This record gives sequence, C-alpha cells and structure tokens, in this order.
Amino acid sequence: SAQKETLGFQTEVKQLLHLMIHSLYSNKEIFLRELISNASDASDKLRFEAIAKPELLEDDAELKIRVSLDKEARTVTITDNGIGMSRAEVIEHIGTIAKSGTKAFFESLTGDDKKDANLIGQFGVGFYSAFIVADRVTLTTRRAGAPSGEAVRWESEGHGEYTLEPVEKAARGTEIVLHLKEGEDEFLNDWSIKRIVRTYSDHISIPIQMKKGASFDEDGKEVVSDEWESVNAASALWTRAKNDISDEQYREFYKHTAHDFTDPLAWSHARVEGRQEYTELLYIPSRAPFDLYERERKQGVKLYVRRVFIMEDTEKLMPHYLRFVRGVIDSNDLPLNVSREILQQSKDIDAIRAGCVKKVLALLEDLAANDVEKYATFWQEFGQVLKEGVGEDFANKERIAKLLRFTSTLSEGDTPTVSLADYVARMKEGQEKIYFITAETLAAARNSPHLEVFKKKGVEVLLLTDRVDEWVSASLHEFDGKPLQSVAKGALDLGKLEDEQDKAAQQQAEEAAKPVLERIKSALAERVQDVRATARLTDSPACLVVGEHDMSAHLERLLKAAGQ
Ligand code: ADP
Ligand code: MG
Repeated sequence: SAQKETLGFQTEVKQLLHLMIHSLYSNKEIFLRELISNASDASDKLRFEAIAKPELLEDDAELKIRVSLDKEARTVTITDNGIGMSRAEVIEHIGTIAKSGTKAFFESLTGDDKKDANLIGQFGVGFYSAFIVADRVTLTTRRAGAPSGEAVRWESEGHGEYTLEPVEKAARGTEIVLHLKEGEDEFLNDWSIKRIVRTYSDHISIPIQMKKGASFDEDGKEVVSDEWESVNAASALWTRAKNDISDEQYREFYKHTAHDFTDPLAWSHARVEGRQEYTELLYIPSRAPFDLYERERKQGVKLYVRRVFIMEDTEKLMPHYLRFVRGVIDSNDLPLNVSREILQQSKDIDAIRAGCVKKVLALLEDLAANDVEKYATFWQEFGQVLKEGVGEDFANKERIAKLLRFTSTLSEGDTPTVSLADYVARMKEGQEKIYFITAETLAAARNSPHLEVFKKKGVEVLLLTDRVDEWVSASLHEFDGKPLQSVAKGALDLGKLEDEQDKAAQQQAEEAAKPVLERIKSALAERVQDVRATARLTDSPACLVVGEHDMSAHLERLLKAAGQ
C-alpha cells in the first residue's frame, strides 16, 4: 500500500541478528520459548492494565496463546490476545534494543563465535531468535483499546531493514508469522512443536493452545479437527505444590521470568502463612547481569497479587545488596491496585521483604554448607555485592558476615575461600584479633612489609582487595567476639602473641634507634606525625603506618581516584 514504509534497524540489532543466527543454531528450538514468553508477558501486562480499565478486555477476556502450523505455506504462527503494541511501541521494541547493559554487551563481544554465543545467552535472546529458523517474519499487532483500523504490520527478512504498514485487525493483541527457512520442516510437525512447548513453556500460567491432532473417520479418511486444546499445564508455577514441579520446570520458569538464558544456581520456593500470606519463588542466578552496578536497573523481583502481575520492582522487594535475586512474590493480602507509591510506605511489604531476605540468606547458607562449588560460583559473581550487606542490613549483619569469603596469607591460590569462622578456628594461642590488610591487588597485599611479623609468628592475615572491603571492615568491627584489626593501622598490638623476649628486643631496638629517629623526624618535619622503631618488620628497613583512627592509605587512594 501507499503507506508502507521501510525503516532501518539500529546497528546493534543488525549485529545481534547476525550473531544470534550463527551462534544459537545448535539450540534453535528456543525461538518458540522466547515468542511464547513474550506473549505471556503481554498477557500479564493487559491483565494489569485492565484492573483500572476493564474495557480493555473488550469482549475477549479469556487470555490465551495459540500456536498453529501451516504445512503448505510452511509457516508457524504464534498468536496472543495480550496488550499488543502501538506503531511507536513496535518501532521502539522491535526495531531497537533499549535494554540497559546493551553497550557493555557489545563491548564485550570478542568475534569468537563460541565465546560470543555464551554472552548472547547471558544477555537474553528474545524476539529476534525468530530469525534462527525463519527467513521472513511478519508481526501484526493492535494495542488493547485502539480501534481495529489502528493496527500495524511489521515485516522483515532479518537483514538491515524492516517494513511497517497500517492494517486492520479485529482481534486485540499480536500475531507473529514465521516463514520457515529451507530445511526447517521439523517445526511443521505437531508433535515436535507440542514437545517443545511442554519442555520450555509448561509453566506459562495461561493456556497455550494448538489444534487437536488429525484423526481418521470410519472410512479411514483423515479428519482435521477445528478444536483447540491446551498443551501446557496453564497454572502459575509458583502456585503448584513443590512435589509437582520438576527441577527442569523450575529452571525454565526462571529463564522466562528473569529473561536469562542460563540455568539458575539455586532457588527457594515457599508458601508463607500468618500475618502476611504470600508465596515466594526466588532464584539466585548463576551469572551477574551486565547492569549489576548500574543505577538504572530494569530487572528485579516480580510482584503478583493473587496471581495478577503487578510490577517488577528493583528497590522495594529486595534490599540493594540482594539486587541479583530474581523471581516472584505473590501476595494474598495486598490490594490489586497497589502502586509504586503505596509500595514505598507499605508495612505489609516491609514484612514480606524481611521474610524473603531471610529465605535468601538461608538459601545461601545451605549452598555454602552443602555445595561448595556452587557457592564458589555464587561468590565469584555476587560476592562483592553481598559484602555491601554488612553495612546495609544491620539486622542480618551476623548472618551475612558468616557468608563472606576471603583470600588470606594461608590461601593456596587467589580464590577467596576463607570464611571468618575458618579464620577464627585457626587463630593462634593467645591471638585475640582478626588481622587484615587492605591493598589494591593481592600481590601488593602479599608483599606488604606490614605482614613480616605475622609471617614470622605464623599468624594468618586476611587480604582485602575489593573496593567494597573498606566499607566491610569499617562496618563489621568484630566477628564472633573477635575485633577486626588492620595490620597497617596504629601501634602494632599483638597482645598475648608478643612474648617477653619480643618486648625486651623492642625496647632495646628503640633505645638504639633513638638518635637515628630524631634525625629522620627533623628531616621529614611536617610531613609525618611521628617516627617510631618497630617490631613489625623482619626484612624491610621501614614502612608507613596510619593512625588508629585515620583513614587507611588504601581508602585515601580510592577517594583521591574518585576525585574527593
Ligand atoms: P524482552 O522480552 O526481554 O523484553 P524481547 O526481544 O523478547 O525482549 O522483546 C522485546 C519487546 O518487544 C518486549 O519487551 C515487548 O515490549 C515487545 N514485545 C515482544 N513480543 C510482544 C508481544 N507478543 N506482545 C506485545 N509486546 C511484545
Ligand atoms: Mg522476551
């Protein structure tokens, strides 16, 4: 038609398409999972908007997803009666990639197909996965509430551009037609499509329907049924009994709800009764998302009220230091019209959140105790974030402290595996403090002259090299009744570790050094507070020490680097 126009994809979309087609080919059936996942999200959105505007449901209130196959035309069609998209939304969501973290994603591409396939998995695949099996995709959509003349058709062959044209569409929602590539005929087979739906999308909470299979009448003639049947269980996964859910189903639900391609590390599923009634299904991902440290994060935990999706929240449902947690909280008590503003001040939400935090900490404790390998993965991906909790969550400080892992002077390699409990169990006779050193790198920490006396006495020292460690040591103060002590601060007090011989030697050294100290002090004048003889060192001639209550040298460097 005259109104048909051709638009270009954003450069990133072109790159993504190319990469996707080449790297995900061995796992191509996931296109169906991705399109069904989007249809389900669109239905969730409609159900939510319809709380305030019931007229959006028109005369079609039964939300469902349909998959149909046309062997002659060689097409697979996925239809939903969800929220649909306006023309502007199609351009925004289907022509560009708006996700935060996209830039980081493209910067981390290596050009090595294998490595990049892994990355694309972390990034999530989404709508464009249709082009793994299709050489032409036609998407027709009408937004709920818009007149039937205001639908739009988007079409592309997955190269540089797409076309858009206004069309008529009586039914609300989105229809996606995949024109299969040569050689992809397995996707025209009822049974394989049903298998794929059951494998990846069984947890979807609305019915996914397909035409009933063909049967044969008395004369042996094939009868094609016009009836639709549900292929999935069609109940919200978290509402089912734990025993009725397989690990595979838990994993697929995670991938759908977190928009992640990788399996989760662990999950916790519980129905909580009492003053607040809610169900939580919370996951620890196995990889950090690209935007873990960005202020503007889109992903968090999804809030449902009596099975109706309300919103995805990045602030109120989980504390900042557990921002990597994904999943669903479904409340029985909150009002359906709960808004972000209400969430901010809701005591009920505070109670739910406190309960969920305890569940997540228990899940991590369980991993740490029973699956050291998984816990190591968790620690590598999210350890630095969890550390923030020591300063952030006063009520759970002890529990968080137990979950921390460090590298120490007794570690074999660089991997942080030492817990504070391990450290305390290994403390020397007469040792009263937990000693640590902060530095920019492990090498710098290990080579510090401050460690010399500890080496000599065989006392373990924790090596803290993460940015966040300064705040950890500043907020933790003590563990198991043992104070934390920087080896680089103040006068060295080894307590009972120091024997009579050490003390005598120290005194002698001080006496002998007096004239030298005076000369150094007058030479350095204003630049130092004091110059002292020390028993800290065994090999090095001198070292710098900060006062007990001064900022550590490391923190000072950090602040300087941050322009403070
Ligand atoms: P994601 O689902 O992670 O956001 P996708 O690439 O799968 O990424 O989808 C991009 C966006 O396109 C969705 O966020 C949504 O806004 C829109 N979209 C995709 N499919 C549909 C659909 N069936 N109905 C309505 N909107 C859709
Ligand atoms: Mg999607």
